[in-house]
Amino acid sequence: MYKLVNRIIKFVYPAYCLHCDDEVGGSHQLLCSECLEQIEWLKRGCVHCGIPMESGRECERCQRRPLYLQPHASIFAPMGPISSLHSDLLQTGRSETLASLIVIAFSRLPFNMADYVVPLLRPRYEGFSLKKQPAALLAKGVAKLLGCPTTLPCSRVEGERVLLITDWLSDGELLRLKKQELRQFFPKKVYSLALIDGR
Ligand SMILES: [Zn+2]
Ligand SMILES: [Zn+2]
Repeated sequence: MYKLVNRIIKFVYPAYCLHCDDEVGGSHQLLCSECLEQIEWLKRGCVHCGIPMESGRECERCQRRPLYLQPHASIFAPMGPISSLHSDLLQTGRSETLASLIVIAFSRLPFNMADYVVPLLRPRYEGFSLKKQPAALLAKGVAKLLGCPTTLPCSRVEGERVLLITDWLSDGELLRLKKQELRQFFPKKVYSLALIDGR
């Protein structure tokens, strides 16, 4: 029986790495172990906006006019196996692996535990309804792992710690506006995390 189930699972989810097409150990895994090891976590960021940098305290843009997005952290650069996982999220809506990576990154940061997870929804996202936007799927996955609820910006967040999540940060300005929108409801703190920093 187990063998049969296993065969069916393999048929539904072929056990090949999304990035390099090598076989993976378990049929539920999306990346092979080599590609998993290739994933590089971003380390530093600008003290005002969190954009990844080679060196220094603030980015060029913030030297002119600081964006003040902190507390914010970006987790990955748009390259390698992470890009493959992100394309898969867009195509299939599978968010579990990426949500786990976000939770690992979150646990390493000097952020406190969140009371609510909020997806950074874009005003328009062609081909996706609000609920199916990649940020919404990720927020749901992260909230499940953290054991807290998701919400949209509303009075529920008053006095609470909020974790704002985006799958792809292309524009610091949109993030700034979303944080501003959230702050209208007087949360205790608004942390933001970008899975991929495309700035
Ligand atoms: Zn691979
Ligand atoms: Zn900056």
